[in-house]
Amino acid sequence: MTNSIIEISNLNKTYATPDGPYTALQDVSLTIPEGSIFGIIGLSGAGKSTLVRCLNGLESTTEGTLTVLGKSIPDLKPGELRELRKSIGMVFQQYNLMPSRTVENNVALPLKRSSLNREQKKARVTELLQLVGLESHAKSYPSQLSGGQQQRVAIARALANHPQILLLDEATSALDPDTTKTILELVERLNRQLHLTIIVVTHEMNVVEQICTEVAVIDKGTIVEQGDSFTVFSDPKADLTRRFVSNSTGLSRIYELIDSDSPILETGPDERLIHMQYVDKTVSEGLVSIISTRFGLTVNILFASLDIVDGYPLGSIVAKYKGSDAQIDQALEFLKGKGIRTTVIEPGAAKADIDAVETTTVENTDKENAR
Ligand code: ADP
Repeated sequence: MTNSIIEISNLNKTYATPDGPYTALQDVSLTIPEGSIFGIIGLSGAGKSTLVRCLNGLESTTEGTLTVLGKSIPDLKPGELRELRKSIGMVFQQYNLMPSRTVENNVALPLKRSSLNREQKKARVTELLQLVGLESHAKSYPSQLSGGQQQRVAIARALANHPQILLLDEATSALDPDTTKTILELVERLNRQLHLTIIVVTHEMNVVEQICTEVAVIDKGTIVEQGDSFTVFSDPKADLTRRFVSNSTGLSRIYELIDSDSPILETGPDERLIHMQYVDKTVSEGLVSIISTRFGLTVNILFASLDIVDGYPLGSIVAKYKGSDAQIDQALEFLKGKGIRTTVIEPGAAKADIDAVETTTVENTDKENAR
């Protein structure tokens, strides 16, 4: 069994503000397994930074327990906390490099107080630059590097003291999609190569789905959903998770089309719009033709997407089914039996908020399927 490296239990954090106490974190409980790449995803203002600051002891906690590497953070003395922080490498959105220092001198900064001699420090810096693929830029200044390269320097610097945990706080949010991908590939390699536990704090689902094995979704200071990334994103329970999935798969654009009364999505009396979600592309392709022949339906695919979450395919199809109520109900029942999640998109309800639409229709579908 995997050991946990961070244990958070019923954590509350309240800020004192001129308008009275403000609860930024409420009843947060999380277990982060050693060696995992753990995503914490939420919108701006959700409490992610507060949680990160509590984790490394920069912010006091109000209630609850918080253990990092077996040590209770609220009980540590300042000296012990400084020592523990060496085990947590931090990388931020804005790189935070010293512009007047070369790449190698930036990476060497955390080694200033280490017991290594000059030669050993030099060797360590070279090793770190090799690790992130920047050995040929040792003498460059940050301004001479691209954003992605600067972030690599920041990662090398964060690893200088051999931390066991690497915490990335919106580390790819300022980077373009291609650079984000290469940085995430580097992070994944570091996780394997150095057996690092990596915590990825982000507002972007594509970041989580690319590398995180587990995820916690945070909304208004509360963890609304957590589990392995594939399960959370293939069967989202919380409204916020559904919204992340809709935006990431492009499904939200279908709802926008419905809202704008697009003729493509108009349904006649014997037609229904169905959203199908599946975990294996080949299975679903076969099933679409099976349901048309077996139940005498016309299935017209309007939208299809395939997301790769933690290495597994997660597909989405929106199709117009044409047939009688009984035929469509039988087809939905059949798909349910094959592990395909189906959601009836009610055209009348499409003007409402996307989350409300999905929640209502899921319930309707479940009821219909249960009949
Ligand atoms: P995120 O990182 O997810 O954007 P934060 O943790 O920065 O969220 O903030 C969560 C909430 O707590 C926000 O509403 C923010 O305004 C509030 N907050 C953060 N820091 C303080 C503070 N020092 N004093 C009062 N309120 C704060």
